[in-house]
Amino acid sequence: MDLALKPEHQAFADEVREFARKNLSPATKEKTLSGKHYDRDDHVVWQQALGRQGWLTYTWPKKYGGPGWGVTERYLFENVLAEEGAPRIIPFGVKMVGPVIYTFGTAEQKERFLPGIAASTVAWCQGYSEPGAGSDLANLRTRAVREGDHYIVNGQKTWTSYAHWGDWIFCLVRTNTEAKPQEGISFLLIDMKTPGVTVRPIIMLDGAHAVNDVFLDNVKVPVANLIGKENEGWTCAKFLLANERLGIAEVPASKRGVGMLRALSDDPSMAERIADIDLQVQALEMSELRALSTMALGGAPGPEVSTLKVRGSEIQQRIAELAMEAVGEYAAPYQPGMLFHDTNETPVGPDHAPPAAPRYFNMRKTSIYGGSTEIQKNIVSKMVLGL
Ligand SMILES: Cc1cc2nc3c(=O)[nH]c(=O)nc-3n(C[C@H](O)[C@H](O)[C@H](O)COP(=O)(O)OP(=O)(O)OC[C@H]3O[C@@H](n4cnc5c(N)ncnc54)[C@H](O)[C@@H]3O)c2cc1C
Repeated sequence: MDLALKPEHQAFADEVREFARKNLSPATKEKTLSGKHYDRDDHVVWQQALGRQGWLTYTWPKKYGGPGWGVTERYLFENVLAEEGAPRIIPFGVKMVGPVIYTFGTAEQKERFLPGIAASTVAWCQGYSEPGAGSDLANLRTRAVREGDHYIVNGQKTWTSYAHWGDWIFCLVRTNTEAKPQEGISFLLIDMKTPGVTVRPIIMLDGAHAVNDVFLDNVKVPVANLIGKENEGWTCAKFLLANERLGIAEVPASKRGVGMLRALSDDPSMAERIADIDLQVQALEMSELRALSTMALGGAPGPEVSTLKVRGSEIQQRIAELAMEAVGEYAAPYQPGMLFHDTNETPVGPDHAPPAAPRYFNMRKTSIYGGSTEIQKNIVSKMVLGL
């Protein structure tokens, strides 16, 4: 099998690399490579540069402003950007609500919301999970009651990533309490500045503020912000989740992680373990490329993307474990402060040691968010294996 790039693809990869080298701030790149936390501006400045280039919407069809790339270009784009130390594109606008809007929204909604997503001038967050409705999402209780041309929304969302940076939140809300759970849900867009929206931080084990509780207290939302039909939001919800699980395997970041492990340790027993995880990453990459090729031929991401999510999570966690082993005893001091660039603390051990333990703890999330590993396995057993 000849895996060498064709000249036109090599030229494309070179163009992406040159763009990243010109537009990615060295400070942001340094945070990626050293495992530090980003600020909001790290993401916004980078995503707006991609937006100006017309590349932020690289997964969108051409008629909605995508660049019209094939699977190979998408693959090269993601990999080159990861190699160059670019932050992961925050998915809530461009990879989640954007596709829902261009697939299920009205012409007016597309015109109103898509440009802000494509330019990254409007930040989005995802209001699906609630206390009591995570894996069992259809159990959600946030209530939207119609009053004239508005809904009055009351409830609580939780684990909402980047709600503190968000201008808008897309929410699943209950609009019918009589019907079967899945049939009484609607997909509603809510401006975070609306009176009655309160965001409360949840601080994670690595000390980062990335997730939040969002309280909705008599929030008045225009009916014009409903996507699709009332009570048919579950269709949008499922469509979005399949897309979410595809990107969540994080293969390019894991490839960078393997490179980082090699740089950390020259111990022969580590080399064997690193080679093992490298092979696992390559196998996952092949499976992801197969799923992308199916999509390129017109298919939608099917239930098999759950397998990618499970393997991607396991691999990310394994890389974090190996990083702990590679730095040995220096992984033991818990130094989350070192992940923030404005800290004055002095690291214990070599520079690359402090992120190891916080990152290990942070990576526990990968087998929970986007649908836990157990839930993905249930999906595979029912929908792929037919058990
Ligand atoms: C870092 C992070 C970021 C997140 N960001 C967002 C976000 O931006 N927006 C959002 O809406 N949500 C977000 N989530 C929420 C995430 O989607 C949920 O945590 C996830 O769906 C699991 O739900 P839960 O936490 O309520 O756990 P539960 O559903 O209560 O599950 C608890 C445990 O029971 C297991 N379990 C549950 N049901 C079954 C079953 N039927 N069979 C076998 N095992 C089962 C689960 O696998 C899990 O181990 C985020 C979560 C994390 C950790």
